[in-house]
Amino acid sequence: MEEYKQLHFAFTVSTLMICFTVMMFSLLHRRTEKPQNKFFLSMITIIALNCGCEIAVTILAPMSKDSHTLFVITDYMRLIYFLFHNALAPLFFYYVACVCGAISRLNKPQSLFYSSIFLLSELAVALNPLTRWVYTYDSETLEFKRQWAESTIYISGGVYFCLAAMMLMFSWDALTKRRRVALLYFVGITVTGVTIQLFNVVIKTELFSEALSLLGVMISIESEEDRIDAGTGVYNRMALENDLDTYLVNKRVLQLVCIKITNSDVIERSVNMENGETMQSIVAEFLKKHLPRYSIYLASPSAFMLTLFDYTQEETDELTDAISTRFDKPWHFKDTIVLLNVVVMSAELPLRIASSSDALYMADSPVPTNIEKSVLKGGDLDYLLRRAAVEKAIARGIEEHTFEVYYQPTYHIDGTLHGAEALLRLHDSILGHVYPSEFIPVAEHIGMIDELDDFVLKEVCDFLKTGEPSAGGVECINVNLSVLQCMRPGFVERIIDIVNGSGINKRLINFEITESVAAEDYRLLSKTVNALKREGFLFSMDDYGTGYSNIQSVFSLNFDIIKIDKSILWSAEKNELGRIILENTVRMIKQMGRQILVEGVETQAQLDLLKQIGVDYLQGYFFSRPIPKDNFIRLIANNRSPG
Ligand code: C2E
Ligand code: CA
Ligand code: CA
Repeated sequence: MEEYKQLHFAFTVSTLMICFTVMMFSLLHRRTEKPQNKFFLSMITIIALNCGCEIAVTILAPMSKDSHTLFVITDYMRLIYFLFHNALAPLFFYYVACVCGAISRLNKPQSLFYSSIFLLSELAVALNPLTRWVYTYDSETLEFKRQWAESTIYISGGVYFCLAAMMLMFSWDALTKRRRVALLYFVGITVTGVTIQLFNVVIKTELFSEALSLLGVMISIESEEDRIDAGTGVYNRMALENDLDTYLVNKRVLQLVCIKITNSDVIERSVNMENGETMQSIVAEFLKKHLPRYSIYLASPSAFMLTLFDYTQEETDELTDAISTRFDKPWHFKDTIVLLNVVVMSAELPLRIASSSDALYMADSPVPTNIEKSVLKGGDLDYLLRRAAVEKAIARGIEEHTFEVYYQPTYHIDGTLHGAEALLRLHDSILGHVYPSEFIPVAEHIGMIDELDDFVLKEVCDFLKTGEPSAGGVECINVNLSVLQCMRPGFVERIIDIVNGSGINKRLINFEITESVAAEDYRLLSKTVNALKREGFLFSMDDYGTGYSNIQSVFSLNFDIIKIDKSILWSAEKNELGRIILENTVRMIKQMGRQILVEGVETQAQLDLLKQIGVDYLQGYFFSRPIPKDNFIRLIANNRSPG
């Protein structure tokens, strides 16, 4: 028996050490603010307290034979032990509810019912000195014996454990793998420990298993190191996605606020600073002054998100206005003063934002240039919904094959057919016809543009392979390339593979890239252009005159044709200044030895003007709109037939 006691004593002391370790780490990392943290700390504190009682009882019990005072003290120690230990299961239940985000769903009557079971068992324990219904302790033999009412403790614990299990099952999908494993680990270890002690009261495994499982929970759930952005100390994008999914599953109502910094180049310049302080951390510190740390997320390098519970619309507006006003003033960063431009958006979950991906659009989608307000809410955010819808339509289009390549013919200045430009169309089953001006930027943003560009190139190759276009006088077909794609490694090889696969003459393909984006990295781009030109492809510069590029750089790229943007033609028709610009642009390009195509020819007058100035090729609604392949085949057939 003595040996058992020594073993038991050692067990309890180790448990106490585990408890102190867990408490110290929680306090050191200041994981004390959230309700979840508070439930966790309460559990570990109770176990520590229970250890204290156990140790006291183990030491005092042998001496209490001779002293009534000591006997009473040990008896009360046991009472305290039971009273507190009994609260562990309810606390665990509330802890699980927090982790699952279901705490708000618990309604009053339910909570009251569960609490009554708990209170009943507490009452049974509290009255034990009088009734001795729960346990007895013999002052002579020092024997501890369970009595019938001890079952209330197990029933109360069991009820809360079952409730926690049900809650886990309900929220299972919304939990990350890490949380699932941690909670199952807790349940597994605790149940094992409790069961061993239940069947053999001398083997005191209960407290030890509980402390051990809480240590596991601390490492995997409470530590949250995978959820925290190291630079700012606020939650990261993954945490945002997980939390929003949890809130949505539990139908929690909240206001979501997004603070999007639009001059993010400032942010980029500020990263990699020596002392680790970044623009983001300065903004994060400002936000932390207004809101608890656990409701702030860094959703992207240039966007913060806030989750606000129990905020009315007015309170939300007040906060968004206050934030926006702060950004009117400069930020002191290092030795400089920086002005950050922001758009602050707010939307209610789940009313306006029905999925975590919708929420991330707020952070990720560029704000349309026609929106000038700096605080957006309600209907202001409809563009996000449209964008989300377009994104889904693109994925659907690829899956359901509803993308189609149209062809818009191009002509020599004398009116004979030159070729065509391949232009993509999307006939979506839900949105109807979606135009490339809308879906191309979205596809670029979500990284689907290469798939679309490949599709167009394959279609064009297949078409050229039939030999029909060449027979009808088509010299080349123009294919648009996204400049960002051009600079990706492996791009040239991919293009060559596609075209070689079809076995067509590479001079039949004329790639178009736009001037505006080309300004980004000429050296890399010219490598791509030269590599593809060496293979025999032709190249056109698209939309000339719309960007702000350095003319010298533009002409350092080896283009065959420069396509002058329609806006230049249209303003030439409107006023004298426009005409001077067009004439001089044409002259300059000619002097550089490049051919010229003018887009957007819609009227006879424009055609006459262009004939007078003298360009090489024309394209526009005056000749033909972009048309489906079959119509284009008919068009070239007519072109071929004499007369
Ligand atoms: P873009 O390359 O400048 O294409 C010319 C656009 O001008 C086409 O619009 C065409 O329909 C339109 N257009 C042609 N002639 C006239 C005219 O006389 N008057 C007027 N008002 N418009 C005219 P679309 O097809 O809507 O394409 C818009 C943009 O989407 C294209 O501009 C191009 O940048 C992009 N795009 C289209 N297809 C593809 C593609 O397959 N891949 C990539 N990467 N981009 C594409
Ligand atoms: Ca084009
Ligand atoms: Ca163009």
